[in-house]
Amino acid sequence: MKALAVRPSQRTIGLIDHPEPGLATPSTVLMKVLRVGVCGTDREICAFDYGTPPAGSDYLVLGHESLAEVVSAGPQAGAFAPGQLVVTMVRRPCDDPACDGCRAGRQDFCRTGGYTERGIKGAHGFMAERIADEARWLVPVPAALRDVGVLVEPLTIAEKALLEVRRMLDRMPWRSGDLAGLRALVLGGGPVGLLGALALRAAGCDVSLVSKQPADDVRANMLATIGGTYVSSATDSITTVMGRLGRVDLVYEAVGAAAPAFEALAALGPNAMFVFTGVPGRRGAPDVDGGAIMRSVVLNNQVVLGTVNAGRDAYEAAVADLGRFVERWPEVARGLVTNRVALADAPGALTTPPAGIKTVVEIG
Ligand code: BGC
Repeated sequence: MKALAVRPSQRTIGLIDHPEPGLATPSTVLMKVLRVGVCGTDREICAFDYGTPPAGSDYLVLGHESLAEVVSAGPQAGAFAPGQLVVTMVRRPCDDPACDGCRAGRQDFCRTGGYTERGIKGAHGFMAERIADEARWLVPVPAALRDVGVLVEPLTIAEKALLEVRRMLDRMPWRSGDLAGLRALVLGGGPVGLLGALALRAAGCDVSLVSKQPADDVRANMLATIGGTYVSSATDSITTVMGRLGRVDLVYEAVGAAAPAFEALAALGPNAMFVFTGVPGRRGAPDVDGGAIMRSVVLNNQVVLGTVNAGRDAYEAAVADLGRFVERWPEVARGLVTNRVALADAPGALTTPPAGIKTVVEIG
């Protein structure tokens, strides 16, 4: 069957003939892939800056943001009937008995780095006609979310962050983990930032989003539709925006660049939280006044949180929230996927700068 793979040793990206998967164990589910989203991580893998093929393979099948349909399931796979839509979780645990995260079923908190990630590190991904996996890694998606279900995985980034933010809010006894009424600032208007803005808004936050596109960009309409505010960083600096907002309770960083992130961190006020989700490249580190930031973090009781990958709780929250988004803001939810390409055209899409918001590869 056809699949899209990178071969780091030859620095090539292309369609390959990949072995057909099967029901290798009684708890395996065989799926037909419908579509796979493309993100910055995939582009980095295609620039040969990231990504590792499985042991013994010289290529890595790409893709970790999937939506698939069950074809058949082994006798011990549970309730996965043919036709059921599913998203497959990305990360698999390491095998170190001392890894508390992995042993607790939370490989997103793996401490050894020995985890694998489908389509990223040590395991083939989902840009293939068919895939198979153990039932415990699958998350059911309602049929009504067929057109947007591919956004579940990128949305899990925000959902994991919000689950953690809620716990952190408990440190202020009068807050009791409730996000409603928090003033949130999202940095970055890519899919992770926009999905974060939707999740924060659905949770009742007051949301502003800063991004580099002009003030009349389609993102401005999206923010207005959800009752938030779009600000172009071409006209207002982050410091200016934060000064204007006055109180900012939460910054959700989804820009993947250190300079704007640290500008916002330096302007953060009392009792606020800062969540980093972006993984910047190793070049172009900004000058940062570490002492000033440390002073501000301490004297303002701030929380600085980094978050990567997601547990099942965040996947389930993402499925539920996506349903809410489609109900409340259907054009916004559907408008996030701006580019659809065939599997054969995916190498071009993966190696050129992103246009629009989310590119997806249509497979089945
Ligand atoms: C994926 C995560 C993964 C991370 C690091 C992200 O693009 O969404 O699942 O853990 O990259 O590899």
